[in-house]
Amino acid sequence: MTSTKPVTLLVLGAGGDLTKRLLLPGLGSLLKVETGRQVTVVGADRAELTDKAFGALVRGAFEGVGVNKRTTDRIVRTARYQQADLLDPAALADLIAGCGDDELVIYFALPPSIAVKVCAELQKIGLPKGTRLGLEKPFGTDEASARAFNKQLQRLVPEEQIFRVDHFLGVATVLNLIGLRFANRILQPIWNAEHIERVEIAYDEDLALEGRAGYYDGAGALRDMLQSHLLQVLAIFAMEPIASLEPQELADLKAQVLRATHLWEDDPTQAKRARYTAGKLGRRKIPSYVDEQGVDPKRKTETLAQMTVEVRNNRWTGVPIVLRSGKALGQAHKQIVAYLRPVAHLPSGFIGEATGDVLIIDVKPGAVSFRLTMNAEGDPLDLEHKLLTAELADGQMTAYGEVLRHMLDGNQLLSVRADAAELCWHIVAPVLAAFEANKVPLEEYPAGSTGPDGWLPKDSVLLDSAY
Ligand code: NDP
Repeated sequence: MTSTKPVTLLVLGAGGDLTKRLLLPGLGSLLKVETGRQVTVVGADRAELTDKAFGALVRGAFEGVGVNKRTTDRIVRTARYQQADLLDPAALADLIAGCGDDELVIYFALPPSIAVKVCAELQKIGLPKGTRLGLEKPFGTDEASARAFNKQLQRLVPEEQIFRVDHFLGVATVLNLIGLRFANRILQPIWNAEHIERVEIAYDEDLALEGRAGYYDGAGALRDMLQSHLLQVLAIFAMEPIASLEPQELADLKAQVLRATHLWEDDPTQAKRARYTAGKLGRRKIPSYVDEQGVDPKRKTETLAQMTVEVRNNRWTGVPIVLRSGKALGQAHKQIVAYLRPVAHLPSGFIGEATGDVLIIDVKPGAVSFRLTMNAEGDPLDLEHKLLTAELADGQMTAYGEVLRHMLDGNQLLSVRADAAELCWHIVAPVLAAFEANKVPLEEYPAGSTGPDGWLPKDSVLLDSAY
């Protein structure tokens, strides 16, 4: 079901960080491309803001992404703000009633614990028919709470109207995986354990905490990145061939992969965790994580996490898939890397060895590279690596713009379905338990390094900027 009818986008938590930094700029990036789209933005938060101040917030975000003045004026003219304690049923009812007759999309840009409570209040009030809900991660704090929240949401509106946001699914290069995999004959026969030896899915950031201790210190890299974004990417990487870009088809195929995903050797202690100590990122001095403002060192929050999983099905059994993400690393590797097995026989007479080819998909900035082995330019019998790279233009919109486009259209292609949200917790639960029980040591790495030694094989492209 898609719709391009006029929509009221009600943002709960309109004074918060997500709204300012990602949601409104995302909406701007959408309206920059689709200038005629009819959206009325209503912001609600307990912050004291006037319509004018909220309008200025929208204008600032739109100008930041280059929306033309005419479109910006049009959206700002109808944008409204309502100060409200969203846990107050009367205020909530008033807010919903004031949203008018357009299709309603309620975006929960709220702390997750508040979002759960607001949903309980909405249940009592009731929602206009067809109301869509946009929910931010984390979806619950474990499998049981995710299931309970899903049930609660499904009592409020049908699953078809629930949009769980994982903005990685709106990243053009992640979506591009589908085109790359299924529009290229050359890749189809090799996309399996017979040809692919191992896979790394990494999101290594060359940024430290950047003032986000309030959220991050309670989450850590495993919950923040692996449990959500990287498992979604894995699902698209490993899924069976898709017949159409119908939302249900994609959700079914992703869930199939997640159901088959297990920890490598069922061992949660193969997972690794570490946190950064003082160091340098470029010229910037970075303090130790434990000395960052707002961090509670007793929490033992990891800033780098790694775990190996296996998709146990006919296509992938036996292939280790490393998921890894961390902060304050020397190089930003945001990549999906597939290492192919070496050829069965290398003609004798060559100097050097034929290591397997490597396919590197850079998520940011977007590029697809093949590292091949071929005759060197100097001595033709000497083998060397050559990189063939196709750079990918960024999407027309930000990832949030893409997510909002689908949500406003009522198209669930980029939404995380209820079962997937629960499965992601199920996969990481033993690792979280092992971390909590201190069965996995909390290692250290200096900010600006490649992380602790020995986590990745020496030939990993994640350890090398010049692969
Ligand atoms: P913030 O705390 O910055 O914003 C939440 C807003 O909701 C605040 O303005 C807060 O007001 C307001 N609020 C809280 N309780 C109420 C209430 N009872 N009534 C009215 N307003 C209320 O959080 P974020 O914007 O960072 O995050 C929002 C969601 O987005 C979370 O689920 C987060 O996990 C997710 N997310 C955030 C990202 C980010 O980069 N920020 C990235 C990806 C996901 P007050 O400040 O007074 O408490």
